[in-house]
Parts: sequence; C-alpha cells; structure tokens
Amino acid sequence: MKKVVKFGGSSLASARQFKKVKAIITADKTRCYVIPSAPGKRDGKDTKVTDLLYQCYDAAVSGQSYKRILEQIKKRFTDIVDGLGLDLNLDYEFNQIEENFLKKAGRDYAASRGEYLNGIIMANYLGFPFIDAAEVIFFDERGSFLSEQTNEELNHRLSSLRQAVIPGFYGSNPDGTIRTFSRGGSDVTGSIVARAVLADLYENWTDVSGFLVADPRIVENPAPIETITYKELRELAYMGASVLHEDAIFPVRKEGIPINIRNTNRPGDPGTMIVENTSKRPHYTITGVAGRKGFCAINIDKAMMNTEIGFGRRVLEVFEDNNISFEHMPSGIDSMSILVHQDEFQEKEQAVIAGIHRAVHPDSVDLEPDLALVAVVGRGMRSARGTAARIFAALAHAKINVKMIDQGSSELNVIVGVKNEDFEPAVRAIYDIFVKTEL
Ligand code: ASP
Repeated sequence: MKKVVKFGGSSLASARQFKKVKAIITADKTRCYVIPSAPGKRDGKDTKVTDLLYQCYDAAVSGQSYKRILEQIKKRFTDIVDGLGLDLNLDYEFNQIEENFLKKAGRDYAASRGEYLNGIIMANYLGFPFIDAAEVIFFDERGSFLSEQTNEELNHRLSSLRQAVIPGFYGSNPDGTIRTFSRGGSDVTGSIVARAVLADLYENWTDVSGFLVADPRIVENPAPIETITYKELRELAYMGASVLHEDAIFPVRKEGIPINIRNTNRPGDPGTMIVENTSKRPHYTITGVAGRKGFCAINIDKAMMNTEIGFGRRVLEVFEDNNISFEHMPSGIDSMSILVHQDEFQEKEQAVIAGIHRAVHPDSVDLEPDLALVAVVGRGMRSARGTAARIFAALAHAKINVKMIDQGSSELNVIVGVKNEDFEPAVRAIYDIFVKTEL
C-alpha cells in the first residue's frame, strides 16, 4: 500500500504548520511520497511566497531594487528552518537564486523556487530523499506537459525509493530551463506522481475538509460532500467550485486512483473522496450545486429555421471566426440561443451580430445580458424521478424566473439560466429543497 500526499501552501506556511504535516505523515507509514507547495499565507493579510518571488524577479530584471523582497522571502524560509530546529543553511541556495534572477532565468524559474526550497526543508525534516522536479517532470518546446515521458522517468526514479519528497508546481523544458504549471499546479504534480507509482490513494491536504454541496459564501454551513465522481467534479469545478486544480484529475484518472481531499488543520475529518465510480448512493439526490454569473444569451429567431439544413453550423461558425467559445445552445423550432461569457463577447458583439445576419439572414437577433448559470449536479439524479420538478418548484416558490434550461444527455446535470441578481437566491432555493428537506 502506498499513498502520495500533497500539502498546499497554507499547510506549509510556518514551522507550526510543518509540524502538523510531519505528524500526519508519520501517523501512516504508507504515506511515502510527499509533494509540497510553497509557503502560503499565514493569515489573511499575508502574501504567498510565490507572489513575493514573482515581485522580486520582476524588480530584479527591470533594474529596480529587489533586495528587500529577497530578504523577506529568505526570512520566511529561515523562520521555518529555525522553528523546526533544523541544521540546514540555505545561504548557498539563495546566492544561486539571486545570481539566476540577475541572469534573467525566467519568471517560471523564479516562481518555482518556493516549492524547491520547501522541498529541501521538508526532505531534511522528514529524513526522506529529495528529488528535484526539474529532473523528472518534462514539458515540450511549446510548453505542453509531456505526460508519458514524465511517467516513465518518474516511475523509473521512484521504483528504487520507498520514500521521497518531490516539489510541486514545476518541471523542465527540453533545454533544461524551468517551466511551471498554471497557478495552484502542485495539485497536478501530486496527481502525476500518484499515477507514476500506481499509488493506492492520492491525498490532497489543504485548509478545508473537502468539497461542500454549495458555496459557503452563499449557503450557511453547507453539508460536506463525502464522495464525488471525477465527472461530477468536472461539472462543479467548471462552474466555480474551486478546491483542486482543474487538471489534477487527469493523471490519476488514467489509472483509476482515488483522490482524498483532507484538512491539515482537522486531520480527523474524513474529507471528500473523488473516485472514478462508486456504487455508494449519494447522501442527497444532488451531489452539489454551483454556478457563475456574467453570461449573455444571443437569441436568434427565423421562421422555418427548422427546415434550413446547416443553420446551426453557420451560426456557430460566426462565433468561431470571432474566437468566442460558447457555453450552451438551447433551441426551439424557429429559434436558437447561444450562451457566451459576457466579458468575452461584449467587445465583439457588433461583429457577431453582423456576422449572424450575413450567415443566416435571421428575422431578429436579440441580446439578453446579465445572466447567471446554475448547475445542479449529481449521479443520483439519473435514478431519481421528479428531480427537475423539484428544482423548478423550488425556484418558482422563491419567485425566480427561469430564463433557460439545459439538461446534458449524461443526466448528470441540469443547468438553469436566471438573472444575475437571482443567482444567490436560486442556489439557496435548490440547496434547501434537496438538502434541508431530504435530511
Ligand atoms: N505555489 C503555487 C501557487 O501559489 C503553486 C501551488 O501552490 O500549487 O500557485
């Protein structure tokens, strides 16, 4: 049995947090491969080390004074080293970092040093071998992650090591320079390592006890999600539920390895299990409800639209030509609507309207801005009758006008479009009907 454990920035923000992490790792001998993030915020006013590194690098390459920020970064790390009572001197590392900043080693190099240094400290503190991620995680010339090459190398390197610390967030380009994943990318590294060692479980330790059925900023004290499938998570994450980096599920998914989101500050909480599939019935009919504001509907009308073959394709081509991705496309017999992100659409709206006129000669093109989309997601909806009825009854009861409905063929989600100002009440109404009344 082996587990890969990734710890986020807030779990490693101070010596005190490092101690909690060591206790978690030593409590379970199967926690053998450790992926640290860079030190995050110690409190609400603090700055993440990754952000300090970006600032410091930008100042250094533009000839401004950077020494003060560099000292601030150094202090973050020496405070941790001293607080843990380690016999570890980071002077050499910091001299190298400064030299490389002045040589313009790149913003990615700069940002990656938070994970790199935390990895060195963690390895020293645990007595585990340290593996620099630059030696085992690879990108191609265009910056795309090379999954198979990485998997082979990691598997090879780790096959002879029962334990190791591998810093998150970065790898290397073909020329040896450093490249990072997008922000929050240590989650991705953890998943890559879990796949490479065929881990039994990928534990992702953060500062919340997993996913919640709804956003706690909208619903008071929402219920936790015990188990969620990868697919459900994709739907909810896309709609704004952010605990895990979006790309983190792909590597483990290839091998069917579950992810367990856990809370470093409450290690007794079971957290959320993210799995390929499960026969366990969800607690409630819905797994979660999430959404986003800021959509615009483009409603196109034309009599006898249904007889015109290629109508939809020609309309969508207009969006493609303007480089706008569309989110949903509900349609009627003589009408179709395209939902897009308002901010992406607004600057191009006149070109799109003109393009639609030219492409399909509609009777009218009408715009409806300021819409929100609410996604009701759940594998349990497939077998439950009356789910849609309950959603719409709850919305009607809350006096919310439904602007659009879209149910995916997977029956995994129902998307409801409402006015922006109805977004929060809609989420609350749906939460209440499924969670409060199902208790
Ligand atoms: N330290 C990086 C960031 O702040 C990566 C991570 O924490 O996963 O985005």
